[in-house]
Amino acid sequence: MGLRIVILGGPGAGKGTQAMRIAEAREIPHISTGAIFRGHMEQNSELGRAIRPYMDAGQLVPDDLTCRVVEQRLQQDDCRNGYILDGFPRTLPQARTLDELLERRGDRLDVVIELDVPDDEIVDRLSARRTCPACGKIFNLKFDPPATGNSKCDRPDCTGELVTRPDDREETVRQRIKVYHETTQPILEYYRERGLLRSVNSDALAPEAVFVKVEEILCAVSAA
Ligand code: AMP
Repeated sequence: MGLRIVILGGPGAGKGTQAMRIAEAREIPHISTGAIFRGHMEQNSELGRAIRPYMDAGQLVPDDLTCRVVEQRLQQDDCRNGYILDGFPRTLPQARTLDELLERRGDRLDVVIELDVPDDEIVDRLSARRTCPACGKIFNLKFDPPATGNSKCDRPDCTGELVTRPDDREETVRQRIKVYHETTQPILEYYRERGLLRSVNSDALAPEAVFVKVEEILCAVSAA
């Protein structure tokens, strides 16, 4: 049985990058609420139009909309053998709703990984972040540049032109850090009390080094 994992961390902590690696290594789906929301905004769907003001302002999308998206995603077949939730839950009500959803399915979370990075480093990191709009791969021009050496995605089957996410602008980043401290930090306590939380200090570490630490944790959880 694959693991059911939640990955938490402030903006720019490396959640997306690590979640993608974990999903590939463990062959489980990577469920990113941010990516699902960005997809809806690109398609200009009804949901996309409803969430755009929140996303553009670096505010959280309301819990009911967010939980509905996650509930629908978890009902898909590929989630039967574990998954990694990236960027969800982000508020205590979302964490409680997730527990209820899992309980109804007779499931439970196996582990919650927190990537811990000081605020000062976050703004630095995000200004150098680039994403491939075609496949979603994340790069960092300072710490994890594309192997192509230019501004194109380096996945063999992809030649997407890398872009900066609109919400990675400095002002929006500062707002997202504030939101993280206010609303997401209490979730850490929620999971700590349940014995599920494992923190990884990823300050100034390359993604490979963080992944080694994360894999150690996941192996220990799998073996338990
Ligand atoms: P991310 O890609 O995880 O950094 O998320 C980007 C943006 O999507 C956030 O700043 C929020 O506006 C929105 N978002 C993503 N996940 C959630 C969530 N669990 N709850 C509320 N808003 C979210």
